[in-house]
Amino acid sequence: MRRLILRINGAVQGVGFRPFVYRIAKELDLKGYVLNDTNGVVIEVEGSPEKLDTFLLRLNKDRPPLAHIFSQEISYGVPIGFRDFSIKESKGDGTRDVLIVPDIATCDQCRHELLDPGDRRYLYPFINCTNCGPRFTIIERLPYDRANTTMKNFTMCPECRIEYDDPLNRRFHAQPNACPLCGPQVRLYRSDGTLISEKRDAIRLVLKEIKNGAVAAVKGIGGFHLICDATNDKSVRLLRERKRRQEKPFAVMFRDIAHIREHADISVMEEALLISPERPVVLVRKKEGTLSPAVAPGLKSLGAFLPYSPLHHILLDKLESPVVATSGNLSDEPIVKDNEDAFDKLAAFTDYILVHDRPVRRRCDDSVVKVIGGFPTPLRRSRGYAPLPIRLPFKLRNKVLAAGGFYKNTFAIGFEDKVIMSQHIGDIETVDAIDYYDEAIRDICNIYDFKPEVIVHDLHPAYETTRWALSQEAAKRVGVQHHFAHVVSCMAENGLSNEVLGIAWDGTGYGDDNTLWGGEFLVSDYDGYKRLLNLRQIRLLGGEMAIKEPRRVALSILFELFGEECLGMDMPALRSFDKKELDVLFKAWKLGINSPYSSSAGRLFDAVAAILGLRQRLDYEGQAAMMVEDLYSPDIKDAYPFGVSNGVVDWGPMFIAMLGDREKEKIPSRFINTLSEIVLKAARTAGLKDVCLSGGVFQNNPLTTQVIDMLSPEFNVFTHRKVPPNDGCIALGQAVAGGMKRL
Ligand code: ZN
Ligand code: ZN
Ligand code: FE
Repeated sequence: MRRLILRINGAVQGVGFRPFVYRIAKELDLKGYVLNDTNGVVIEVEGSPEKLDTFLLRLNKDRPPLAHIFSQEISYGVPIGFRDFSIKESKGDGTRDVLIVPDIATCDQCRHELLDPGDRRYLYPFINCTNCGPRFTIIERLPYDRANTTMKNFTMCPECRIEYDDPLNRRFHAQPNACPLCGPQVRLYRSDGTLISEKRDAIRLVLKEIKNGAVAAVKGIGGFHLICDATNDKSVRLLRERKRRQEKPFAVMFRDIAHIREHADISVMEEALLISPERPVVLVRKKEGTLSPAVAPGLKSLGAFLPYSPLHHILLDKLESPVVATSGNLSDEPIVKDNEDAFDKLAAFTDYILVHDRPVRRRCDDSVVKVIGGFPTPLRRSRGYAPLPIRLPFKLRNKVLAAGGFYKNTFAIGFEDKVIMSQHIGDIETVDAIDYYDEAIRDICNIYDFKPEVIVHDLHPAYETTRWALSQEAAKRVGVQHHFAHVVSCMAENGLSNEVLGIAWDGTGYGDDNTLWGGEFLVSDYDGYKRLLNLRQIRLLGGEMAIKEPRRVALSILFELFGEECLGMDMPALRSFDKKELDVLFKAWKLGINSPYSSSAGRLFDAVAAILGLRQRLDYEGQAAMMVEDLYSPDIKDAYPFGVSNGVVDWGPMFIAMLGDREKEKIPSRFINTLSEIVLKAARTAGLKDVCLSGGVFQNNPLTTQVIDMLSPEFNVFTHRKVPPNDGCIALGQAVAGGMKRL
């Protein structure tokens, strides 16, 4: 006889791990216990060595689908004579290194019960089990027990209790376990605050109203959605008008895959992503169909997703049409999560508000994924993924907090070989967003009992995140350059530690020479970087304004290439200004008034969109790039010339050729082809085997696909797969760069 002691670290709480251990121990007739503690799960079992080996094997082979095991410490001792096998109560002390599980979509078994008229949870919108349901958004503190969640005020009825206590039941210790008798309920209000209806009747009514064209705010898992019939053009336009969101695409929720196929062409990989338990919004190719054109104006792509909460399943099951399901927020503000807030902030957009009484402890927006270069790539890593850590192939020297960037912010905490990335926080611009940022950082530090030794921030002095970091006095502060953070982030998630050529192409970031960067080729390792090459700079005419108006970028390029003479040319970008504006802008360009230099690659897409007359002003960030991407054709193989000298990649020859190109429809492809050739040339100049691509520009699928094709196998090309290529990855790079720094 022997005693086996196992300490398992990972995301193993709230996923049915203990009952699973209980079942195999019972089957093998082993004695001992299993226990959740703040570090994960502890198991002690006694039996013959053969049985213990079988136990170990089955533990690793058959474990529940949601259990992520990161480390497993095995030791043996002399038996101490356990009588039985038991599941012990949780211990609440010690350092907290347990991992919180993300919110997981309703599993098939629960969905079945939900839609089965004979089941006691028929159409009950809070059905869940140990394989599914909310986690991250309901946890108040660790360990993960019902008393530490927002379910604490709901007392289980005898029937639910029996399930919860039975180790052989699918709902054994399913912390949010509930039923219509004892759990949360929904209520429907008119947006003026009048209560109309409750429970099942409320859902029936809201369904009827959505069918009739109403816009409803519906409380979900990580906050509210605004929902309306996606095939009803009037409703979708009404929602746009009320939300003052003109063109930024809305995500659409479909009942099932068959329904998505009616409206979009999806690949096998996209289907796998759509049905995955994380249930992200997946960017797919739109088909001609019955969806309102106002869903994603001017774009060929569509953000599609499937129901992930029981309430969504009920709604979509009874509706003929897919629905727009967009985050319930004022533009640039955090998603609304509380009932009172919904009446305050969303009433103006909606006709009805469907709330429930299970509080959302923390916000979590829907995640967005796109297949880029043949791989699933997150554009927003949030619900379903956060807060699972990114594992590093080495240990960090310091406990680090990374403040992240400014756009699409996420922050991170890093310790040992893990970086825990926050959910999507968003652009840190409005007062509410700054408050949310500060609150979310404190929340994550609290729950993990985390005190950083180092706080890392961007170099941009005007970023709120930089200001926040500089005001924290309890830790050492370290600034990390934006594009270096991009590259390190890509290196870290790919497990690289050797020197690489990092290509960071994005909209903007603060350089270490106080100019704006964004078209960078950095020879990097974790200690630092050398700027090998960068794209030729342009002046951003009017500063920030140039970022919103592609025509200003095009004009600046024309000034660079032709000086004042360009004003005699006839093209859409020039026609959009009047004569006086053009004169003023030329002076501003010549004298450098409010016209900072930038080497951004993202701006080049804006310029192309303006030259083609696609857009002179943008309604949302990335719009020009998405339109240029839509016009790419893989059949066009040729490219424009470009120059490289003195560390600068000159796009001058490319634009000159482009302006003379009579085959307008081929310009987007030739432009993207030229960018790929620039990357190849840079890789050969650097002469390093490993090339990392990061930055929002590499969200462009044709560009990234082509770069991978052209560089392989001469080079190993690494892209983002775990965190977004956009500024949602900055915190990971900061955490690793700051965490590896010798203090
Ligand atoms: Zn379930
Ligand atoms: Zn119950
Ligand atoms: Fe960036």
